[in-house]
Amino acid sequence: MAQIRIENVRKDFGSFNAVKSSTFTIEDGEFFMLLGPSGCGKTTTLRMMAGLELPTSGRIFIDGEEVGQKPASQRDIAFVFQMFALYPHMNVRGNISYPLKSQGMPRARIKAKVEEVAEILGVTDILDRPVGGLSGGDRQRVALGRAIVRDPKAFLMDEPLGALDAEFRERMSEELRALHDRMKATTVYVTHDQLEAMQMGDKIVVMNHGVVEQFGVPQDIYDWPATRFVAQFIGSPPMNFLDFEGVIGAGGDEVRLSDVEVKVPPSIEGAKGKLTLGVRPEHVTLDDDAPYRGRVMTTEYLGTTQIVTLDTANGPLKARVASAARVEVGTTTGLRFDARTITLFDQQEGRALR
Ligand code: ATP
Repeated sequence: MAQIRIENVRKDFGSFNAVKSSTFTIEDGEFFMLLGPSGCGKTTTLRMMAGLELPTSGRIFIDGEEVGQKPASQRDIAFVFQMFALYPHMNVRGNISYPLKSQGMPRARIKAKVEEVAEILGVTDILDRPVGGLSGGDRQRVALGRAIVRDPKAFLMDEPLGALDAEFRERMSEELRALHDRMKATTVYVTHDQLEAMQMGDKIVVMNHGVVEQFGVPQDIYDWPATRFVAQFIGSPPMNFLDFEGVIGAGGDEVRLSDVEVKVPPSIEGAKGKLTLGVRPEHVTLDDDAPYRGRVMTTEYLGTTQIVTLDTANGPLKARVASAARVEVGTTTGLRFDARTITLFDQQEGRALR
């Protein structure tokens, strides 16, 4: 299996710069997510790893060997497009064995290899069935089988579950993750779905407008977003942003927000100017005794929790509280923020202050 390194990689299409200078490393065996909104450059980045696009500048390494200018056929990695793309005139065995036949592998070895892969994917019983009548899940397993059978160094997947309905998508993503845990094959997976990225990924790269905004394990990206874009893109409802202007006094760990002191982590003392306080809805506590106030605008019942939208002097704010909490629309309540969970951003650059 393989480590993949992207080093200062840039891609231009004519005068349009689709990927700005990107650098990150995908370690051997990782399930790695390329996450971002439509048009951010994630597919282009994946296609450059596969050799389907060549970088305008920068270098791509697979296991330490530079492959940036090599064609796809020499990279030994499998690109899984939409998983449903099967050869309709062949049966399951024909579909899975196709890549080996085109390599000229002897028949007996093909048979053994296909049966081994079928076993891993749980499709042994349907090997001789035509693909036309298969269920969606089986079609997907067969498409995966066709990628796995070659023993590639890595799998590259572009929104493989994109076309599926929510329930089926969840089941398939669990299966895909379980398969990865068994095979430990380096997998790079493109998605615009932050929840899917958080659930499935060992690591995530978050991209926006061709820029790598952050790169790390899901929990760090959620807890310590590097930019306001990441903070807003990850998490639902997203992080709250309260804009204010002020100075975080040296020696103190409080910030004045509309004349109210709010505790912030001591590490960001001394920050000043136009700042934004970021706090996730689950880290806002409704507390009548707290001096910072908000007026309840709406409540949204979600089963075990409810989302309360409040109007504050610094703009709207959402709190996630227990459903059992009694919250009445139209009333005013105090709000407390857990200092350990606050992120401060500078307003101009949108960068987190650490
Ligand atoms: P999506 O999820 O919509 O596919 P993405 O994040 O994968 O988005 P890319 O497909 O990488 O984005 O595209 C990044 C930008 O580059 C887009 O603005 C797209 O229009 C542009 N682009 C991609 N391929 C080409 C091309 N062959 N020629 C010109 N522009 C392109």
